[in-house]
Amino acid sequence: MLPAKLRKGQLPTKICVTCGRPFEYRKKWRATWDDVKYCGEKCQRNRPAASATAPTN
Ligand SMILES: [Zn+2]
Repeated sequence: MLPAKLRKGQLPTKICVTCGRPFEYRKKWRATWDDVKYCGEKCQRNRPAASATAPTN
């Protein structure tokens, strides 16, 4: 599943923590790429509330 080699010029990729799919670097993430965890706003909203701070259940 992991790309065997990263070629020069290839965009970095990450795995979305919500949908588990790889997504490519985008220019809009230039400043925040290290903190990007989701492939899009949709997944950012639908992030799994699994081990997050669970208030009252
Ligand atoms: Zn996603």
